[in-house]
Amino acid sequence: MCACRCGIKVHLKDGGIRYIEGNRNHPVNKGVLCAKGSAGIMQHYSPARLQKPLLRVGPRGSGEFKEIEWEEALSTAASWLGRIRQSDARKLAFFTGRDQSQALTGWWASQFGTPNYAAHGGFCSVNMAAAGFTRSAARSGSSASPTGTRPVPPDVRRRRGP
Ligand code: SF4
Repeated sequence: MCACRCGIKVHLKDGGIRYIEGNRNHPVNKGVLCAKGSAGIMQHYSPARLQKPLLRVGPRGSGEFKEIEWEEALSTAASWLGRIRQSDARKLAFFTGRDQSQALTGWWASQFGTPNYAAHGGFCSVNMAAAGFTRSAARSGSSASPTGTRPVPPDVRRRRGP
């Protein structure tokens, strides 16, 4: 449920998630699971979770949205992104928060054709230092990348809080 990425074991019953516990063999958490991690079950079953794409229908910041079908959401996104990709895919800067899908979002950005991708982990100074990325490397255009796709050593993860 956060960027620490603790290992878990998910117990199923009758096709549904019943219980989540920490994985004792995982090097990051060694079986420990915080309350937020235990609450991961609600990502699947909370009545308040997002169940469909939302389209903003009011002014930005008004919080007015309506549910739309995936087909409409995808065609809307494809029309916006298609124009950018046809002119120069690198015009797209794709930043994500502390998402748990950096392998997917990083892959998506590379398939789109933009190198301008970063997840939260890419901006975090602890992560960047662990990846050997420095400000001088950034200025000189070094190939050392601050993207979130780079693995963070377990000892660095343990020093960071959830
Ligand atoms: S610290 Fe908690 S929320 Fe974060 S990954 Fe570990 S169990 Fe999940």
